[in-house]
Amino acid sequence: MSKPHTHDDVARCQELLGQLNEYVDGELAAELCRDLEEHMAGCADCRVVFDTLAKTITLYHQLDATPIALPADVEERLLRRLSLGAP
Ligand SMILES: [Zn+2]
Repeated sequence: MSKPHTHDDVARCQELLGQLNEYVDGELAAELCRDLEEHMAGCADCRVVFDTLAKTITLYHQLDATPIALPADVEERLLRRLSLGAP
C-alpha cells in the first residue's frame, strides 16, 4: 500500500485526471469510469482532485437555480463519493 509512486503511476494519474471532465459530464465510457473509480480508491492524490471538482460542481448546483445537466447516475456517484469523504 505504501509503495512509492513509480513513473507509471504518475503517468496513469495524469491520464485519468485528463478524463475527469468527461467523467463528470457522463461522457466517459462505463469501463473507463470503473477504471477511474478503482484507481481513485487507491490513489489519494487523484481523490483530492476529484473531490475538489465534485464539491465545486455541487456548489454550483446549490448556487444556481438552474440545474446543470449532470446525468443522474453521475450525480449519484459524486454524492456517494462526497458522503464517503465526509468525516
Ligand atoms: Zn492517481
